[in-house]
Amino acid sequence: MRIQVYGCRGSIPRPHPDMARYGGNTPCIEVVSHNGGHRLIFDLGSGAFDLGQKVLGEMFARKKADADGEAEGKKLPKQGGSIFITHTHWDHIQGLPFFVPLYLPQFQWNIYGPEGAAKTLQEVLSGQMQHDYFPVRLGDMPSSMKYIGLSEDENEGLWLDGNDFLDESDKIEENGHCNDESATASNDPSTTFRVTTKYLNHTVLTLGYKVEEFVLVQSSRKVKGVSVAYITDHEPYDHSLAKGGYEPPKTCDTNGKPKTTADQSHGEFFKGVDVVFHDCQYLYSEYGAQAAQSKENWGHSTVEYVVDIAFHSNVKHLLLFHHDPQRKDDAMDELVAYARSRAEELEKKHKKSFKMKVDAAKEGDVLELDPFLFASEPEEKKLNMSQHSKESITARLSAMHQSVVLGSYKTDMETLSDMLQKDNKNLSAKVLHSCNDIMQYCKDREPSVVVLDQDLFGCTGLQICEEIRTNMGAWGKDVPVLMVASKSGESVEDQERIVKYLNADNYIKGVYSHAYFITRIQMAMLRIPLRWRRASVPPTEELRVATLRKTGLLDSSFEERFDRITRLAKSMFNVPIALVSLVDSDRQWFKACCGLPEGVRETPRDHAFCAHAILQDDVFVVPDAFQDERFADNPLVSGPPHVRFYAGYPLKIPVQDDKCGCGTVSIGTICIIDSKPRDFSRVDERNSLRDFGAMVVREVVNNDLQQPSR
Ligand SMILES: [Zn+2]
Ligand SMILES: [Zn+2]
Repeated sequence: MRIQVYGCRGSIPRPHPDMARYGGNTPCIEVVSHNGGHRLIFDLGSGAFDLGQKVLGEMFARKKADADGEAEGKKLPKQGGSIFITHTHWDHIQGLPFFVPLYLPQFQWNIYGPEGAAKTLQEVLSGQMQHDYFPVRLGDMPSSMKYIGLSEDENEGLWLDGNDFLDESDKIEENGHCNDESATASNDPSTTFRVTTKYLNHTVLTLGYKVEEFVLVQSSRKVKGVSVAYITDHEPYDHSLAKGGYEPPKTCDTNGKPKTTADQSHGEFFKGVDVVFHDCQYLYSEYGAQAAQSKENWGHSTVEYVVDIAFHSNVKHLLLFHHDPQRKDDAMDELVAYARSRAEELEKKHKKSFKMKVDAAKEGDVLELDPFLFASEPEEKKLNMSQHSKESITARLSAMHQSVVLGSYKTDMETLSDMLQKDNKNLSAKVLHSCNDIMQYCKDREPSVVVLDQDLFGCTGLQICEEIRTNMGAWGKDVPVLMVASKSGESVEDQERIVKYLNADNYIKGVYSHAYFITRIQMAMLRIPLRWRRASVPPTEELRVATLRKTGLLDSSFEERFDRITRLAKSMFNVPIALVSLVDSDRQWFKACCGLPEGVRETPRDHAFCAHAILQDDVFVVPDAFQDERFADNPLVSGPPHVRFYAGYPLKIPVQDDKCGCGTVSIGTICIIDSKPRDFSRVDERNSLRDFGAMVVREVVNNDLQQPSR
C-alpha cells in the first residue's frame, strides 16, 4: 500500500510562505494498492488539484510505455478508482471541480460518502456546482461517475478488488505463477481492500474510514494485511477528554460484554491500525473554556485527546491532521514535539515496550507500507467480495417512518423539532414538557429516539431515562437517549444515573448548535437496526391525517355501529381478532377491537401491519408473518398478540383536493388477525373483506364527516 498526502490543512487553503513546509492545501489523500491495481482517494479538498495532474501524467506515461512496448507502464494505476468523501464541508470537496480526471470520458470513478435521509450524496455534492458558483455542473462532467451513499459499517465493510483497474492479462490465475508459499512483493500478488466506516462527532454527518489491504497468497489462501485509518473532523464526544485522560474500555456489564462509551468505541475502530491520520486541529489550551475563544462544539479534536486515544488503541504510526489554518510551520514543529513527549510519557507510565511513532502529516509525504511488514503471522480470512450491493440509504430511510420525542424545559426544542421535520418528511417529532406526558408517550408510542432536557417539569430527564431503561421492555433497553445537560449541575443520584443509564457522551454539555444536535439525532436514527420493515409514509400523508382527524373518531368511545361490523367479521372469517384500525401520524388507534385484551386501544405506528395496508389499493395479506422478512421480528409477531396471519382492507375516504389529485385517502383499515398462518387467496373471502370495508367507509362518510360540528 502506498499512501501520499496532497492536502492536510483544515478549514481553508493557506498558501502562506510560513506554512509551506506542512502545506496549505485542504484534505486529500491517495492510497494505491500494493500491486498498483486500485487507487483510493480520501476527500477532494484543494489538494485534489495536484493529485489530478499526477493522475493525468500517469495516464500519458502509461500510454507512451504501452506504445513503446515497455512493461513499465503496467506498474501504474489504471484510469479511475474509488473516492471516499468524509463529509461535504467545503474544505473536503472544494477540489472536486478542479480534479481534471473527472472531465475525461475514459476515467471511471466510484464516489462514496455519508448519506442521510434528506438528500442523496449526489444531490449534496452538486450543490457547490450550481451555475452561480461554478461554470460546469456535476452532472455534465464527462467521466463515468457512480455515487454510493454509505452509513456506519464497522464490521462487514466494502470489499474492493485491488485488481479492479488492472488489465485482464495482469490478473493472477487461480493456479498461476503465484502458487508459492513464499510469494513476495516481487510476485505481484493479488490484493483486496476492505473499507469499513464509523460515524464521527462533527457538526454534520461525517464518516471516518479504515482501509485494510489483504494480499492473497494463492496456494494456501493465506492473507496478510496492512491498514490505514482516515479520521478527520471529529471532536471528543465527552468534552472533558479534550484535556487528555482517555481510558480504553475494560469494564464489563452483566452479559460479559465490555461496556463502552462513544469515545471508546471511536478508539476501538482504529485499534491496532498501522497508520492513522487523525484530526488534531487544536491544543487543549486553545480549545477549552480557558481559551481566548473557546473552540468547544466546533467539531475538532485536541492533540491531548488524539495522542491518548491513539496510544491506548495501539496505533503504530499517528499522523496529526487537519492543521489549524493559523498554525505556522514553527508552531507545527512545536505541536509535534509536544505530541511526541506526551506519547513517551504514556509509554513510561504504562510500561509499554512498543513505541508509537508520531508525526504531523505534510503535503507531499509518501508512506510505503509493505503488506508483509507488520503481519507477524499469516491470518486466515474468508474474503467475501460483496461489492456495491448496498441499497441506497436515502431510499431505505425515506421508506421508513421514524419518530422523535423531545422533552423540553427551557431548551429551544420547538426549533429543533421544526428543523428535523423539514429535513425528513417521514419523521414525526413531538415536543412535550411534563414528565408524565413524556413517560406516557414513550410507553404508548415507543419513539425511535428520545431527546430530553435534564431539567423538566415534575422530574429530571435522568429519572425518565432510568424509567425507560428499567421498565419499558426491549424497546427501553435499546432506544437511543440524548440529554441536554442541566445548567445548575446534577445531584449525586443523577450523576450515578448518567453512568448507569446514559454514558457521559450522550449527556451533552455546553453551548451546542442546532446543526450539531440534528447530526447527533440523525446518527442515532441511522444506527437503528432494521430488524423489521417499518411501513413507508403515503405521499398524501398530510391530507390523509387531516381527513382522519376531521372524522373526530380518534380517542372516541366504543360505538355499536362499528363494534357490530368487527363482531360479524370475526365470526364470519373464524378468527380471534377483528379490528377497525385508524392510522394516526405516529400510532394506530382502534375504533373497534373485537378479540383484543381489554384496555388495548393502540400500538406505535412503526409496529402496525395496518400502516402497510393503507399503502395498498386492495386487500393486503400476510399469510404467515414468520415467513415474511418484513414482519418476522415485528414486536406484535414475537410478542402478544403473536400475529401470524393478517389481512386488511384500506378504508378509502373520498376527498376533494385539487393539489393531490388523489380522489381518496386511506385513514385506516378493517383487518382480521390470527395466531395461525392462513391462506387467504379465495376470491369470496377477499370480496367479503372488501364488503366489510365498504360498510365502515359508508358509516364514516355519512355520519362522521357530514357533521361540521365535530
Ligand atoms: Zn474540515
Ligand atoms: Zn468539517
